[in-house]
Amino acid sequence: MDNLSQMTITEIRKALLGREVSAVELARAANELAARENPKTNAYLTLCPEAAEAAARVVDEKIARGEDPGPLAGVPVGVKDVLSTQGIRTTCASKMLENYVPAYDATAVTRLKQAGALIVGKANCDEFAMGSSNENSAFGPVRNPVALDRVPGGSSGGSAAVVAQGTAVVSLGSDTGGSIRQPASFCGVVGVTPTYGRVSRYGLVAFASSLDHVGPFARNVEDAATVLQAIAGRDELDSTSAFAPVEDYQAAMRQPVAGMRIGIPKEYFAGLAAETGDRIAAGLDVLRKLGCEIVEVSLPHTEYAISCYYIICTAEASSNLARYDGVRYTARVQAASLGDMYSKTRDAYFGMECKRRIMLGTYVLSHGYYDAFYLKAQKVRSLIAQDFAQAFEKVDALVAPVSPFPAFKLGEKMADPLQMYLSDIYTITGDLAGIPCMSVPCGKTAEGLPVGLQLFTSHFEEGKMFRLAYAFEQAGGVS
Ligand code: GLN
Repeated sequence: MDNLSQMTITEIRKALLGREVSAVELARAANELAARENPKTNAYLTLCPEAAEAAARVVDEKIARGEDPGPLAGVPVGVKDVLSTQGIRTTCASKMLENYVPAYDATAVTRLKQAGALIVGKANCDEFAMGSSNENSAFGPVRNPVALDRVPGGSSGGSAAVVAQGTAVVSLGSDTGGSIRQPASFCGVVGVTPTYGRVSRYGLVAFASSLDHVGPFARNVEDAATVLQAIAGRDELDSTSAFAPVEDYQAAMRQPVAGMRIGIPKEYFAGLAAETGDRIAAGLDVLRKLGCEIVEVSLPHTEYAISCYYIICTAEASSNLARYDGVRYTARVQAASLGDMYSKTRDAYFGMECKRRIMLGTYVLSHGYYDAFYLKAQKVRSLIAQDFAQAFEKVDALVAPVSPFPAFKLGEKMADPLQMYLSDIYTITGDLAGIPCMSVPCGKTAEGLPVGLQLFTSHFEEGKMFRLAYAFEQAGGVS
């Protein structure tokens, strides 16, 4: 299986059902490849070869009995280390959870397993998913497989890197402000942030609960759609998961796109690196040639997105991270009093970015500042959502860049958190509105750095989004 790093879900399925390869052979090949390649990128924090092989044996038994082994049978998968995995260490890339082994699986993980997937390892990320470069991991940064001196993006940098590197065919990440789309764009893979509530958050370690989304990474649109199909849908264990029926994405994706109206939000083109702008313009030409009508639209509250996001996400994070107090989850610094034990544990085990956000979040929620910051941010969030709703009265989808610039060098933005926060200027709005959005590869810069094209559709219109992305990809995208 030396071509594993290039294979798609469809090809794996064909090879498995045609008895050209067994799932155990696939698991062994994937395990070997991951062990060999991982030192180059540090994309996996934990490898789980035994679990992958055990899952593969179940798939092979099902095939031998003539049963359908599931839509992801034998597919090597990486899972971001913020998703709980039963019996497998789940660190959130934090010293706080270095030795934490969950007793249960996240629902998205349960559904991957039921679909026959083989979990190869837990992917590195920014600590508690806070970051845009994967440099906030307590266990070292991830290197971008496309250019090893550059960041893979964040926070799901490991999940993007394992797919780009070929040590997994697909992976799961989480997106709160751009953490699926931005690393997908930096590593040249497909990354999908579904509608809020489309995929259960049960077992996803919470960062900012009203913004957290679980979604797939893949090397093509079809594979991303297959993974979303497997993990989407109502889950009784997450009361915010949606009841809306899950569309057949494979069918939706193959519908024609001619005549679709696409809006270009003018606010998303200011401050764009020249080469990124060129690639996006070439991407729009592809859509035009496919018969789409391109019109300019305005999302007037875009300029407030970053401020609004960093109030809401830090407020929610300060509450969610309060549970890491030294009493639960293994890490503790002994101290004379309970209060001391709390603060010494937090000081010793949380990284800088988590501390910064806990403090900021506590501040914006405090008596006397709540109305001025938190409540105001919630109102702005509604206005941003309204901007999208109004745009979708006129157009089927919106197209924009994912990031204002391609993958930057390791260390380049670490000293300046505000610069780092700007990486997500075009992605945060999608999370605030809770609408589906994705990144599809849209060519490379002269230096060979990938650029991502971002698509947005209205709530629960993942099918329509895949339709555009698939047509774009089938037309050859941008070189
Ligand atoms: N980069 C953003 C942040 O640091 C988004 C992170 C995310 O989506 N998890 O919060």
